Parts: sequence; C-alpha cells; structure tokens
Amino acid sequence: MNILLLGSGGREHALAWRLSQSSLLANGGKLFAAPGNPGIGEHAELVSLDAGDHDAVLAFCEEQRIGFVVVGPEAPLVDGLGDALRGAGVPVFGPNKDAAQLEGSKGFTKDLCARANIPTAGYQRVTSLEQALSVLDQFGAPVVVKADGLAAGKGVTVAMTMDEAQEAVRDIFAGRFGDAEAVIEEFMEGEEASFFALTDGATIVPFASAQDHKRVGDGDTGPNTGGMGAYSPAPVLTAELQAEVMTRIIAPTVKTLADEGMAYSGVLFAGLMLTREGPKLIEYNARFGDPECQVMLSRLTSDLGELLYACATDRLGSIPAPQFSDDTALTVVMAADGYPGTPKKGGAIEGIEAAQADGAKVFHAGTAMANGALVAAGGRVLNVTARGANVTAAQAAAYAAVDAIKAPELFCRRDIGWREVAREAE
Ligand code: ATP
Repeated sequence: MNILLLGSGGREHALAWRLSQSSLLANGGKLFAAPGNPGIGEHAELVSLDAGDHDAVLAFCEEQRIGFVVVGPEAPLVDGLGDALRGAGVPVFGPNKDAAQLEGSKGFTKDLCARANIPTAGYQRVTSLEQALSVLDQFGAPVVVKADGLAAGKGVTVAMTMDEAQEAVRDIFAGRFGDAEAVIEEFMEGEEASFFALTDGATIVPFASAQDHKRVGDGDTGPNTGGMGAYSPAPVLTAELQAEVMTRIIAPTVKTLADEGMAYSGVLFAGLMLTREGPKLIEYNARFGDPECQVMLSRLTSDLGELLYACATDRLGSIPAPQFSDDTALTVVMAADGYPGTPKKGGAIEGIEAAQADGAKVFHAGTAMANGALVAAGGRVLNVTARGANVTAAQAAAYAAVDAIKAPELFCRRDIGWREVAREAE
C-alpha cells in the first residue's frame, strides 16, 4: 500500500527509515512524506502538503491512493486531522482530537488522572489571576505552574520561590500563551524517565523506555530545549517499575478514555517522575518523543509499519509484541549556534558519511539543501545516534561519530547519558 508520513524532524527521519523497510510497502507500495527534510528524502518521496489543511491532506490521500497515514508531531492530532482521515476511511496512526487532549490540555489530563485514580502530582485548575494567586498561597513553594495548552515546552515553570510562581501566573494571565487557563501543581521530587506504549484503544503493548536531556548545557544547565539527546532503554525504569507504570498509569488511562467514548489510538508517551512513593505521571504526549523516537527505533527489530498499522486498524492484539535488540542506543543532538534562542541558519554541514562509517546513524532534523550542499535550517539540526553494549559504550560511539562531522556553526552537549554513565562506573 502507499503510506503518507507527516512531519519534518529527526523523529520523522527515524520513522521514515523504519517505515521504508516495512512489509506494508511490498508489492510496489510507495512512502510519501510531507514536508519532510533532506534525510527523510532518502527514504520517501517528499511532497509539499500542509498538515493543517485537512482538505488538502484528504485530496492527496485520494489522489495517491494512500492506505495509511502516520502523523509524527502533535499539532495536527490536537487539531483533529485524525478525525478527518478516519472520517474519510483512511487508517491513521495517532489519536482523534478528543483523545489528543491528553497532550493538548494539561487540565484535561489532570482531571482524567483524578477520575481514574492515577498517581500524579496534586493540582488545581485555575481560570483567573486572583484565583491563581490564592491557590499559590495554599500550595506554597516549591510549586509548579503550567499554562493549560500546548506551549512547546515553554509554558511550564518549576518555581522554587513564591516570587517566581507569582510571576509565572501573571505571565499566563497576561495572555503570553494565548490561553487563560493554568494548572498549579504540587512539586514532585525524583528522577525523570519516559515510557512509551502502543494501543489501539483496547489492547495495550509496552514499547520502550528512554531518558532525555531537556537543558541546553552540560550538567543540565541553561534554558529548556526540545531535547538535546536521549538514550534507550532507561535502566532506571526497571522491568518491575515498567509493569507498575502499565497497570497503574497506562492501562487505567486507556480504559477510562475508551469507557468515556474517547478511545485512544496511537502511541502514549508518559513523562514520569520516579518518586519515593513510586512512579507518578508528569504529563502525556500523544506522539513519539523527539529525540526519544530516534533511539527506540534504532533498537527496534520488529516491522514498525505493521505495529503502527495494527494500532490504526484495531488489530494490535493479533500481531506479535514489539521486539528490540538488547543493547543501548544513544543520540546526541547537534543544534545551530543560538538555539534555543534564535538559531543561526545556513551553517555548512560536512562529514555525515564519515560519521556513519562505523555503524552510527545520523538523522536529519533541521537541515536543507542550498546550492547542492547540506546546511543548517533550524534549531536542532542533526541527531547523531549510535548503539553499544551499555550507555557508556553507546555514548563513546555517538561522540566518535559527532567528531567526524564538520559543522563549525553547530554545537552539542558533551555529556548525554551522564547519569547512567556514572551509575555504570560504580
Ligand atoms: P509545554 O506544554 O510547554 O510543551 P511540557 O509538556 O514539556 O511543556 P511538562 O512535561 O508538564 O510540560 O513539564 C516540563 C518539565 O517540568 C518536566 O519535564 C519536569 O522536569 C518539570 N515538571 C513538570 N511538572 C512537575 C512537577 N509536578 N514536579 C516537578 N517537576 C515538574
């Protein structure tokens, strides 16, 4: 069959790479990607389509006889593209608009956790500055303030003092994030980890664990970013903890949504805090993580297309569970100078072949071709990914590949995997 992949980042490059190997494309099936990037272009035919224009996406699906659509990023899902495609009879990987509120509205997710008794931070939704200031008084510092809607990682303030917390709610109610609702949360202490599960709304299968690195600088310093690196699996999320996450967090979420007529189909990405009382949910995302997807798919040995198509067609219970190699994959994000502020575009990139000579894989995120040469075109530019027997070995292989790339206007963290490298040295 023909498949359409939507998105243009490193996550979608990894998805395109694995989808291009799928048996779904047997018998002459074609993989299209919109809008894609030069790396994705090695695996798919790139088309210019705006995922926000549902009619254009539907028209393209009809014209090219697309049998399956895979949506990479969250915005089109929160915006209802899943409903539009399902309505037209096109199977799609990703939830409908109502279920995508798990990512699109923090208040929705916190209320669902309360109804389903899912472990998470205590919270209160607030809809005015006066109410927010009075709730902050009750909570005291440290406390966490979140704008309700999507804010690309910028709507959350972990406030150590009341002054910071008050400033954060003032920002939100001054309209900085375009919505006038916020969630105030109890501060949770612990190590963070990510867990991914696939579901068709009824069957749930565990996918993989990962840990990312949100801050721009070594030692987890500086401003937050979309993610500067990741590794999978995350040993801190032991088999026992994963089982607990499945039964206490993922399963009740999927069941409650189905019972309430909002069955969730796709990948559930749970951001977790491993607290002294056990794993608690920080947030849900309705898509694969970027760059977590790159490391998980580097280890996946199952047919990705079959897994995602089974989610979309309610057959997850009738195919084998996902299988992975038992080593570690680690990715280092190379970003353009200035990121996460204003990234410098146009920087030359050379040496990708040399970087891949020993088995590493370089996923493209923000790249473009200019006069026949590869250049930086966004904030996060490349995801240099390698595998090894453990995090220490994968880290060494990934940085050896990074050092083979000649891109003077890109930078990266030099300590991706540091927590686990320190534990492995003990
Ligand atoms: P946005 O909506 O702006 O894109 P996000 O979805 O990344 O943001 P969260 O994942 O909810 O927002 O929070 C971002 C980070 O803030 C988390 O990764 C975690 O480090 C921290 N955080 C969030 N909630 C809590 C909490 N209750 N206690 C401690 N830290 C928290």
